[in-house]
Amino acid sequence: MELCIDFGGTEIKLAVIDDARVLSSGSIPVQGGAADLADAAAAARQLLAGTGRRAEAVGIAVPGVVGPDTGRMLHANAKYDFLRDFDLNAWSVREFELPAVVENDARAALVGETSIGSAAGERDAVLVTLGTGIGTAAMIDGIPLRGRTGHAGILGGHVTVDLDGPVCPCGNVGCGEALASGRTLRDAGDVTMSDVFATDAHADIRDSFLHVWGAVVTTLVHSYDPTVVILSGGILRAGAAVREPIESYVTAHLWPSMTAPRFVVPPEPELSVARGLSVLARATPPHATHSQEDQ
Ligand SMILES: [Zn+2]
Repeated sequence: MELCIDFGGTEIKLAVIDDARVLSSGSIPVQGGAADLADAAAAARQLLAGTGRRAEAVGIAVPGVVGPDTGRMLHANAKYDFLRDFDLNAWSVREFELPAVVENDARAALVGETSIGSAAGERDAVLVTLGTGIGTAAMIDGIPLRGRTGHAGILGGHVTVDLDGPVCPCGNVGCGEALASGRTLRDAGDVTMSDVFATDAHADIRDSFLHVWGAVVTTLVHSYDPTVVILSGGILRAGAAVREPIESYVTAHLWPSMTAPRFVVPPEPELSVARGLSVLARATPPHATHSQEDQ
C-alpha cells in the first residue's frame, strides 16, 4: 500500500493506493510556505489512519525539475520555492518512517496513465497537462525520459512558438506556456481558463490558446514519435471542445511519414499523478537514505 502526495499548483492532493486501487484520497489548499509540509504530513496521517493500515512505500510529486540522483527539486515555481533543494526523502523518513520516491508531477502522471490508467499498456506516449502552466512528459520504449539532469521531456511547455512573443519567466522568448496558459490570463487580467472555455465571450483567446497548444503538441509528437497523446488538466473537462481542435491541428501539421497518434483524455485526471507515484514507489529503489544526514 502506497502513500502518494502530490504538491500541486493550488492544492496538495493525497491518496492511499493499494494494488492500483485508490483506497482513500483527499486534498488541502497550498499556502506557499514551510507550513505546507506540516499540513501535508498531518493530512497524510489522517488518511492512513482511516484505512487502518500502514503504508509500505511513499511517492511524492512536485511541480518542478527533480534531480535524478538526489530526488531534490532543482527548480520550482515561486509557490514552492521553499522546497528547492529540500530533501523530501529525509522528510518522509522523519514523518512516516519510510523513504520516498520523488518525481516531477507530469512525469508521474504519465507513468500513472500508461501503467494503470487511460493509456495502460502504451510504451510510447506523451502527456500534456494544460493548466496554470503547461506540464509535459514523454515515454519511449516504455521508459519515461529523465535525461542527464532530469529535464528531458518535461519542458515541452517552453518550446518557442513565437520568436516575437513575450519573455517567459523561464528566460526563453515566446514559449507556449507564456502565450497560452492560466498564467498568461492571470498576468493579463481577471479572466480565468474556465471563463475562456465556458462561453463564446472570449472566443478570440480560446482560439489563440488552442492554436498554440496544437503547435506545442505537434512539436512534442515530432520529437518523441508517440502512439498516444494524453491530454490532462482541469480544462479538459470541456472535453472535445479542447481535444478535437488540438488533434485536428496535429493531424494537419504532422510530418508526412508519421502516423497520427491516438488522443486520450483521462476520466480521472486528478488521480493521474497519485497513480503514477504508487507505481514508482513500488518499483523504484528510494533515493539514498544517507541524504538524511545532510539535513
Ligand atoms: Zn518558458
